[in-house]
Amino acid sequence: MFEVLLYYKFTTIEDPEFFAAEHKRFCESLGLKGRIWIASEGVNGTVSGTKEATAIYRNALANDVVFSGIEFKIDEVEGHTFKKMIVRPKKELVTWRFEYEIDPLKKTGNYLSPEEFYKAMTEEDVVIFDIRNDYEYDLGHFKNAIRAEVETSKDMPQWAAETLSQYKDKKVLTYCTGGIRCEKFTGFLLDQGFTDVNQLHGGIINYGKKMEGKNFEGYCYVFDERISVPINHTEEATVITNCQYCGTPTPKYLNCANQECHELFLCCPECEITHKRSCSPECEKAEKHEFHS
Ligand SMILES: [Zn+2]
Ligand SMILES: [Zn+2]
Repeated sequence: MFEVLLYYKFTTIEDPEFFAAEHKRFCESLGLKGRIWIASEGVNGTVSGTKEATAIYRNALANDVVFSGIEFKIDEVEGHTFKKMIVRPKKELVTWRFEYEIDPLKKTGNYLSPEEFYKAMTEEDVVIFDIRNDYEYDLGHFKNAIRAEVETSKDMPQWAAETLSQYKDKKVLTYCTGGIRCEKFTGFLLDQGFTDVNQLHGGIINYGKKMEGKNFEGYCYVFDERISVPINHTEEATVITNCQYCGTPTPKYLNCANQECHELFLCCPECEITHKRSCSPECEKAEKHEFHS
């Protein structure tokens, strides 16, 4: 059995370059695969490995004073969900490019447990901000959440400042995949004059485990080879996306097999074969094509 781990920790790392090189050796010695960003503000990672390997890894981090209190979101899987092990020093754990420093250890929104978040969603007069990118929202999101018209995090601050300011006096709930994006973004909202800002602790992934994903429509976008994972495990579970070829409901996002395209597109298992995992007729005929049925 294998596990996928999703985790982050805001903490001080003195020498991110050195740390990243050491950490990479450690991960490789355990046979882990995935991607980990290391910055002077902390660590943000997702890795897959055998249960034995991920257990050693989790213990090592949990017992390191630098990472004390780190929380792991754990999914069981059948094999690796990454091809390589990438550990890279970065300026920021999430690329927001705010115009000034935001330290989530000093200023951040209230943390809501999955249960508290569920209750808050049912209250009147709350606004729910999905602070992920548009393609993530489209695959699945909480009922009535506001969709951000952005493709990358770095466009989010401006979009939010322009579009969301009308909600400054409301109770605001924010969420993202694993929680890390809310940490700084809720601090930003507070700086923008929002008064009642609350974030889903542990993100959608944790919510799916604790609340069976109640009120979540569709699937959740994840940054590994699975791309979409089910969250809502109740009878209300839905698929809100359709195959771009035949229109059948499908939660499957694929990367176009044309190596020069690699675009994400929605495609059911049957059309994946008939269209050779290609997003368009042009891509189907492309030279650098990696589809093998
Ligand atoms: Zn289809
Ligand atoms: Zn394509």
